[in-house]
Amino acid sequence: MVDAHVHLEKGDYTVEWVQQFVDYAVQRNINEIFFLEHTHIFRECRSLYDEMSSYNEYQRDWYQKKWERARPLSEYIDFIEKLKRHEFSVRLKFGLEVCYSPEHEKDISEIGRMYPFDFLVGSIHFIDGWAFSHLRQRWDKKDHDADALYKRYYEVMQSLVDCGLFSGLAHPQSLQCYGAYPQKNYKTTYLRLAKALSLNNMYIEESSGLTVHYGDRRLGMNPDMLACMLAGNVKVLTASDAHVPQDVGRYVKEMNDIIKQGALWNGRDCFDA
Ligand SMILES: [Zn+2]
Ligand SMILES: [Zn+2]
Repeated sequence: MVDAHVHLEKGDYTVEWVQQFVDYAVQRNINEIFFLEHTHIFRECRSLYDEMSSYNEYQRDWYQKKWERARPLSEYIDFIEKLKRHEFSVRLKFGLEVCYSPEHEKDISEIGRMYPFDFLVGSIHFIDGWAFSHLRQRWDKKDHDADALYKRYYEVMQSLVDCGLFSGLAHPQSLQCYGAYPQKNYKTTYLRLAKALSLNNMYIEESSGLTVHYGDRRLGMNPDMLACMLAGNVKVLTASDAHVPQDVGRYVKEMNDIIKQGALWNGRDCFDA
């Protein structure tokens, strides 16, 4: 089994730190880990945060604090090179989790060229500047109509996939982190996304990150989205979004079971609707 989304940034860049993640992976029958870091921790990626920083004072302060501690990308690259010379008992890949906004595709393409990363996964953390996953400004139906929000969320997701800069799409259900679940039928949207993912040879994450970090009781993609991905032959990779060793592989077995069940009724539910 694979855990395609694991962060190292909370510890020092040492082999011992990585070994702790590997130990948990082995315990949970994970044989491959994709390590990645958020672009907001690197100096070279500053421009990706222009819109979110000017959205409101809270977000400006949030990014300012990140910026004060931002490190050069070379620190991560040097660490990757060091780890590649080391033997571990599971396969490791190294990449970046890029905060995507349609305005910054040129910047993202430049970041991607700074090092031959094994993968770049695109994440939607902001919708037109609003960082929706922050507790301090969580979704409230009084402020944001869920249907309008989902329309825009999936538009941005479609651009992320269409731009051809990414190997994968991260946590495609993250907008529901504070209970904004999609209410309408989005199967046509999901099928369009699936087609584009497959065309661009991209994977999609089946992510337990919201369950691990936000207590979301709906694990992974919603059944319609998963059915459409399987029907479109999109590669689905399980991912925990772990930030500490103990979270590596959490719910990956359960998500594999869900994917297997989904594969049994692959396409049927999706196309009959
Ligand atoms: Zn993320
Ligand atoms: Zn992440």
